[in-house]
Amino acid sequence: MIRRHCVLAALAITAVSLAGASHAAFAADKVCKLEIAGNDQMQYDKKELVVASDCTQVELTLSHTGKLPAAAMGHNWVLVKTADVTAVANAGMAAGLANNYLTTGDPHVIASTKIVGGGQSTTITFPTSKLTKGGDYTYMCTFPGHYVIMKGTFKFG
Ligand code: ZN
Repeated sequence: MIRRHCVLAALAITAVSLAGASHAAFAADKVCKLEIAGNDQMQYDKKELVVASDCTQVELTLSHTGKLPAAAMGHNWVLVKTADVTAVANAGMAAGLANNYLTTGDPHVIASTKIVGGGQSTTITFPTSKLTKGGDYTYMCTFPGHYVIMKGTFKFG
């Protein structure tokens, strides 16, 4: 069964390549997966996340590897332009845990997960069409006080 699946997958890739070559407008989604974890020491396990320029969708999974509950040491993952970090974090603080520490409909938020507590994880998918190649982006946790330490550089393209 495993061998058969491999053959089918190879055929599918070949088909996509051929279609791409003969029809320039053919746009297959390329979903690129990212993983990041937060812990009870208020830290992400990565300082930088990189998405290749040909990715059309990003599937990001945030895991909380600690034990503390969301109310005490919750973490989310929020992507913004670096220039918007402080404004989004301050507005989020006031929004409270029920709103995942983000202002509802904040136009500066490019992508965001919900807040998770110890032992939990969450996955989001967002399109790279919201991003500019080579743009200056930062991801952070908007739980009150966390963003000063819990942030990293996000690169696309
Ligand atoms: Zn946090």
